[in-house]
Amino acid sequence: MMNFYDVVVIGAGHAGCEAAMASARIGAKTLLITLNMDHIAQMSCNPAIGGIAKGQVVREIDAMGGAMGIVTDSASIQFRMLNRTKGPAVWSPRSQCDKVCYQRGMKLWLEQMPQVDVLQSEVTAFLMDNGKITGVTNQFGDEIHCAAAVVTTGTFLNGKLHYGLRNFPGGRAGDFPSNSLSAALGEQLKLRLGRLKTGTPARILAKTIDFSQMARQECDSAEERFSCWSAGHSPALPEAVRHDLPCYQVYSTDETAEIVRRNLQYSPMYQGVIKGIGTRYCPSFEDKVVRFPQHPRHLLFLEPEGAQTEEYYINGLSTSLPPEVQRQLIHSVPGMEHAVLSRYAYAIEYDFVFPDQLERTLRIKSCDNLFTAGQINGTSGYEEAAGQGLLAGLNAARIAQGKSPVELGRDSSYIGVMIDDLTTKDIIEPYRLFTSRAEYRLVLRQDNADLRLSEFAYETGLLPESKYREFCAYRSALTEVLELCRSRRHAGKSLLVHLKDLPDNTPLAEATVRLPFPAGLLPELNDDRQGRRIWRELQVEARYDGYLQREAAEISRLRKLETLQIPADFDYDRIKGLSNESRSKLLKVRPTTLAQAGRIDGVTPADIALLQVALSRKN
Ligand code: FAD
Repeated sequence: MMNFYDVVVIGAGHAGCEAAMASARIGAKTLLITLNMDHIAQMSCNPAIGGIAKGQVVREIDAMGGAMGIVTDSASIQFRMLNRTKGPAVWSPRSQCDKVCYQRGMKLWLEQMPQVDVLQSEVTAFLMDNGKITGVTNQFGDEIHCAAAVVTTGTFLNGKLHYGLRNFPGGRAGDFPSNSLSAALGEQLKLRLGRLKTGTPARILAKTIDFSQMARQECDSAEERFSCWSAGHSPALPEAVRHDLPCYQVYSTDETAEIVRRNLQYSPMYQGVIKGIGTRYCPSFEDKVVRFPQHPRHLLFLEPEGAQTEEYYINGLSTSLPPEVQRQLIHSVPGMEHAVLSRYAYAIEYDFVFPDQLERTLRIKSCDNLFTAGQINGTSGYEEAAGQGLLAGLNAARIAQGKSPVELGRDSSYIGVMIDDLTTKDIIEPYRLFTSRAEYRLVLRQDNADLRLSEFAYETGLLPESKYREFCAYRSALTEVLELCRSRRHAGKSLLVHLKDLPDNTPLAEATVRLPFPAGLLPELNDDRQGRRIWRELQVEARYDGYLQREAAEISRLRKLETLQIPADFDYDRIKGLSNESRSKLLKVRPTTLAQAGRIDGVTPADIALLQVALSRKN
């Protein structure tokens, strides 16, 4: 092993894998260190990638050359487009995945990347000189030097697993925790750490489930997949043996709720044993019963953990009640009366870094060459982690190459929305993405991620020439068809206006017969992958033209405010009339632009006006 790398990435979860790959793609020699090589890219919780807003993030990662979309496509055992009956702003792709196949795919790709080395070990401390990281050490006493580092340790920092009132140290079930590094972040880097909590349901064996008592949920029959790229841009990856497995829906019963109520004295959450804060949006089953007593039953999904395993994940039944109570809960659900549990549900508490200590580049404000990404920054979810990982890896490599780090805007991506929220707002519970967090969600759609981000990715070196050429060919074909639709007229109206008359989501194959004008007027529309993508964009443009233009105008107003930079050492004490609350929030966050200052909770528009005047005087 060399002992100097441009970038060292600590942790090979979803953030770490994308970070190492992004760093390597722009030419930085990268070392990825992780506790267990066989657990690279492990899905600690549900066996699925994507979903509401998360699917958009996977498309964004893919558009910037990342791996998550491509690996998901080969490991997918069921693809669905969620929210298809609603507007295109909220359509969200989701794939049920073969967990093991996903891990093997990501591991293989990393191992084959020329600029990446991988090492199984535990990073225990940082090597530092003059406030900067010069390397890391591990439990073997290796000293590995680097120009920049990314920490992506997920739920592992001081991790504690709860099964009823028993608890054990652990990074997740089957993995030991990372305690020394947590201490190093606090003591060597003087970072403020907090404590969060999340949980996972039990797994049960298929041969003991009576699926006939449940509703079957099939996959979409689409040619749809996550990655927008044609085949051949990645190494040959392991492929799931089935891509069309069903999931099942079933409801819990009155008895399930009653069992929870009878056993709350064994719940570590309700007995105050768990101190970490959990997410409101993904509550444990006992939380649902206590907080929503008016709901007699709750919807559960049975999701396969893979195509070559009997294990099923019970989505919606996350709990930290003791194993014996879990067994009773599960047996009270129709079709699961005789289910055998293969893994118990549990909750986990872990340390995280308060993300107001980060820049929007994901760099630690107090340390020029250290970045953090993923669950360590207070988020929850594989996709949120991977999106941050990609940006942190890119920026760490840029620092190693003597360049300045870059940001992603709220107007260009959900990743930008998330990072801006994390660094600007108070994070008091695990943060997850929703479409409602984005103010420009008609622009930030799952179908146009490449149009939003591939140019940026090419400029920063993330996107290779071959993908960029493919993107340019698609973009110019789309532009040509759009211009044609705007300019060409039939029966007194532009073709784009005619397209509005078609029912929502008409597939291209059907549309060519139903178009409200002769199909020959749009000769470029072929029923192939590119043609179908162009068709979808046309439908969105036709239906939402006015709204899209309004959002574009708002975005250009925001961009102006984003160009009003606030110097890092700006003296807020000099602004007369600023409220004390605004002053202390501004000092805490230290926003880099006026637009970011305006998004800080508690900073009023009047105070922003004062700040704007003060900034204009300073310039
Ligand atoms: P992880 O995937 O946790 O990866 C961290 C990596 O860091 C691991 O590979 C580990 O080996 C490595 N590592 C740690 N310390 C060191 C060290 N000192 N040196 C070297 N390597 C190190 N998400 C949801 O969206 N919804 C849920 O309901 C949900 N429930 C969850 C329940 C449980 C019990 C757990 C454990 C997680 C749950 N998650 C859930 C979270 C989800 O797993 C994470 O959001 C996601 O995996 C975070 O990715 P990451 O890359 O940040 O970290």
